[in-house]
Amino acid sequence: MKKQTLSIHKGYDKDTQKTMAPPIYLSTAYQFDSTAHAGDLFALKQLGNIYTRLMNPTNALFEKRLASLEHGTACVSTSSGMAGIFGTIVNLCEAGDNIIVSNVVYGGTTTLTDHTIKRLGITTKKFDPTCPENLAELIDDKTKLVLFESLSNPNIVVPDFDKIVRIADEMGVITVVDNTVATPILCNPIKLGCDIVVHSTSKYINGQGTALGGAVVDSENCNNKLKNNSRYNHFNTADPSYHGLIFSELPFPIFATRFMLCVLRDIGITASPMNSWLMTNSIETLGLRVRQHSDNALAVAKFLSGCSDVVSVRYPGLPSDTNHKFATKYFCEDRHSGLLSFDVGSYKKAQQIVDNISLFSIVVNIGDSKSIITHPASTTHQQLSKEELDTAGITDGLIRLSIGLEHIDDLIDALKKVIR
Ligand code: PLP
Repeated sequence: MKKQTLSIHKGYDKDTQKTMAPPIYLSTAYQFDSTAHAGDLFALKQLGNIYTRLMNPTNALFEKRLASLEHGTACVSTSSGMAGIFGTIVNLCEAGDNIIVSNVVYGGTTTLTDHTIKRLGITTKKFDPTCPENLAELIDDKTKLVLFESLSNPNIVVPDFDKIVRIADEMGVITVVDNTVATPILCNPIKLGCDIVVHSTSKYINGQGTALGGAVVDSENCNNKLKNNSRYNHFNTADPSYHGLIFSELPFPIFATRFMLCVLRDIGITASPMNSWLMTNSIETLGLRVRQHSDNALAVAKFLSGCSDVVSVRYPGLPSDTNHKFATKYFCEDRHSGLLSFDVGSYKKAQQIVDNISLFSIVVNIGDSKSIITHPASTTHQQLSKEELDTAGITDGLIRLSIGLEHIDDLIDALKKVIR
């Protein structure tokens, strides 16, 4: 089936349930038939619901739908995008390990990987996802994952997937791709050879800024890479926290299973079923929305490119953009999302524009139906050091736009009033 049909029907049998909209299961726990039944569920001899911190039928429906759109084998939903990224790191790493992270990622991912996990004994090395020539040199015996974004927020950079995947595969290291901005409509990292996809579903998947959520999608590639790989010993040896279970021997997607049984069990970064229900409904229109966001954003990028106030515009849909080549190679539908950024040369000028524009809301979010304007240097990236800002390409005059679904004429009119 095509993505448009999967996003509407996958995982829900309305012929059996007889409701057009799927139900919400707001239940913390589930009843067992007997102690033997409960024992079998805990021992994974039978599959079934135990407790919502681990699994929930409403979450499961959303997970099936997203996994199918991403060409994954399984998906685990989480309470937020950051929870999904943190859970992925925790599922693969222990103190003494290191991870390799793109130098252009979302600000929260930078603070998590540069600072928070360092306090847990996990260190981070940086690489350039557009030119990953030194990736092999950065990988050592303790490297557990390579993390990058398919379309980076807010720098709008498209990675060289083929090179990153080739090097990571040669070294047997897991690749983790944050596909939040591109969404499965525009990019499918698993089809490009990557192992794990993470999402902040709070953005385009939700689409209206009404619920926070995250998701981690597992793949066949990941299963193959984890099995019998001494780099990931904890997947291939008896787990003392799960009565000696060896995850790689399970007939299920092993990354996702361990995420659910150990990470959700112990850390509780579980998605709210209410939010998963909202996501399941909103994912039905993801394709339509992403196409319109992208078409509006391309028109805005073209307008900004002709403004004398604007020093530079970053949008991969512009043939002149440095990312256009990779976007053409790795993206579907010849579209490039609703996210774009432009530089007006100074902090003061950026502030003037942000403070005086109409229609756009000053908000630190993306992917909403309403257009959003953000000044990263004073908000999302305020906590980064000068060096981190330089590495991430965040300049004082950089403005990020998340182009919504308003009529394009009204968006251009609003921009024309504050930018010449
Ligand atoms: N990844 C990307 C690319 C993001 O833009 C964000 C948030 O803006 C996150 C992850 C974190 O998501 P959440 O806010 O759902 O925790």
